[in-house]
Amino acid sequence: MTIEKVNDAFRRNFGTGGNLYASPGRVNLIGEHTDYNLGFVLPGAIRQAIYARIKPNGGTLCRIYSVDYDENVEFDVAASELPVQQWARYVYGVVHEVRKLGKSVAGFDCAFGGDVPLGAGLSSSAAFESVIGYGLNDLFGLGLSRLQLAKAGQMTEHNYIGVRCGIMDQFASLFGEKDRLIRLDCRSLEYRLEPFRPEGYRVLLLDTQVKHSLASSQYNVRREQCEAGVTIIRRHVPEVESLRDVTPEMLETYRGKMEDAVYRRCHYIVGENGRLLKACEALERGDYETFGRQMFGSHEGLSREYEVSCAELDFLAGEAAKHSGVLGARMMGGGFGGCTINLVREAEYENLVGELSEKYAARFGKAPRVIDVVIGDGARRVE
Ligand code: ADP
Ligand code: MG
Repeated sequence: MTIEKVNDAFRRNFGTGGNLYASPGRVNLIGEHTDYNLGFVLPGAIRQAIYARIKPNGGTLCRIYSVDYDENVEFDVAASELPVQQWARYVYGVVHEVRKLGKSVAGFDCAFGGDVPLGAGLSSSAAFESVIGYGLNDLFGLGLSRLQLAKAGQMTEHNYIGVRCGIMDQFASLFGEKDRLIRLDCRSLEYRLEPFRPEGYRVLLLDTQVKHSLASSQYNVRREQCEAGVTIIRRHVPEVESLRDVTPEMLETYRGKMEDAVYRRCHYIVGENGRLLKACEALERGDYETFGRQMFGSHEGLSREYEVSCAELDFLAGEAAKHSGVLGARMMGGGFGGCTINLVREAEYENLVGELSEKYAARFGKAPRVIDVVIGDGARRVE
């Protein structure tokens, strides 16, 4: 569907030829707020993706058509002024970040569109940056690695969109593989692909469609609280540089020297890294029950200790925990809104979706949006 629309749009706007590329959105199974504390995250690429047909045009203009906004934008590759349209700034940003690396990008024509829901926590923006970077790298033979493309996407968000994100989303979009989750070490950027073939189970997102304005201000407060905890421990254990280096025992030793809120934030982060590693061990055994329990633990910590949940997320995770069809559930993303991610028994999937939607609607006046997720491949050329 999406592919045909993109191909048709390219033909109408620019004629024949070009290559078609795809780069997906992502989910994060466990490891929330651990990235900026230099811990671990466990994302996977999903089937929903942004598709772009791109063709060099022999000039210096970037001519882009957005299928989903039905809008054309063009700018010179060397233009110093940002496009007015927000969506075009992602393309502009990637072109400029790639040029900063000393690579020459010439003019190109591009039609793109996708089926990653926007702003739902599936990182449509990273999918978009990644497909543009991947496509330009391939078409112009730039020789950039996937890691360099991920960083170019991240810098696009920092420098042209004003979102100071970590690298997880772009990393997942570029490095994802079918039946695999990516255990990414946010300190070293080393990664390991963990097997994820939950036969008989499905991954389900329930989108509260709530967006709390608290998210960005509270994000900064949490960062400061984590730093405050590190500063206290470092006075006694100088080799500690981040919460990544803090053990549960260490935290208990210095608990008395911390404000209660600082202790609870740190306790969540230290615990979450531990849960993630336990979850990965479980994956290697094919033990999805244990994996699911770590997800519940993650939600508990995010809600009670890190305090970034909200009534809607707690309701969905709490009801999921009571349902026999659910192995694990937790809020996904920064918090104060967005989705829960659930690992659900296939046989009880329909029943669960019906029951939770009904209960949620009775409580909050509107059913959650249901998003079915399958772990798929990362950035690629599509034939
Ligand atoms: P998300 O959590 O989905 O990444 P963001 O707000 O970071 O949410 O990114 C969404 C933005 O990315 C959109 O406002 C738009 O500018 C751009 N974008 C994402 N998907 C598309 C698309 N299919 N077509 C055009 N622009 C898109
Ligand atoms: Mg985004």
